Amino acid sequence: MPGNADLAGPVVDWFARHARDLPWRRPGFPAWGTLVSEFMLQQTPVVRVIPRLDEWLTRWPTPDALAAEPAGEAVRAWQSLGYPRRALNLHACAVAITERHDGAVPNDVDALLALPGVGDYTARAVAVFAFGARHPVVDTNIRRVIARAVDGLPEAPAPNAKRDLPAMDALLPEDDDDAARFNAGMMELGAIVCTARSPKCDLCPLADRCAWRAAGYPATDVPRRAPQKKYEGSDRQARGAILKALRATPHPLAAAQLAAAVSDPAQYSRAIAGLLADGLIVTPADDTFALP
Ligand code: SF4
Repeated sequence: MPGNADLAGPVVDWFARHARDLPWRRPGFPAWGTLVSEFMLQQTPVVRVIPRLDEWLTRWPTPDALAAEPAGEAVRAWQSLGYPRRALNLHACAVAITERHDGAVPNDVDALLALPGVGDYTARAVAVFAFGARHPVVDTNIRRVIARAVDGLPEAPAPNAKRDLPAMDALLPEDDDDAARFNAGMMELGAIVCTARSPKCDLCPLADRCAWRAAGYPATDVPRRAPQKKYEGSDRQARGAILKALRATPHPLAAAQLAAAVSDPAQYSRAIAGLLADGLIVTPADDTFALP
């Protein structure tokens, strides 16, 4: 079996030929755009992110442009991307970048980590993809490729930064640019070739050195993760319906108007309480609600 370092060359070459043309990969794409895209991509597929990202960067091309508007405008522009607390965090991030960094996205992982809503993955992804720093970045796709190609497992075990980051670090090429391309290439490979349910090994640049393939694709004894809860009828859907109604108007809405958006009164009450607690809505007067 070839050594770990042998993964980088084939992946970097493959990425140069097969990478999808995505906005954040184009030359001159701003670091602010990378940060916004990473927030959006956290829980939303690429195809839904691209049009929203384009709108955001047209309206708010810099952090200070977003920081100058109320947080509610970020929630409004988030539209149906889901998990809208990310919009509030992004707005808080824009304010912090404007106040602490003169409006320039910092390039250092620790400074990025100190921004609101920026976790370890996002900080590393921005440092690597926007600034070309040499750090391991590990997302779900990369964990799966490492599990299969290096460890001979059918699926990645649960995330564990203490295991995942050193594992990726051990594979990184020395050169900063190659390391960034390798990070992006591994992510792309997991997204479009080494997919969770139907890996396309005949298209894979690692086919001749993949430990799982070499072992004959042994099955997993790790139980599959429970499927996600249904969105239909969930409290999440109720929260989404309330936010949708508030996004559609520049004015506050009375509780009676909003209640029509959710058929179950108990669910409506839970949704309102949750949105208030999260800061996604405010109550400017009794029984009246608005975006912040
Ligand atoms: S050979 Fe198949 S299982 Fe192995 S890394 Fe490539 S796509 Fe994944």
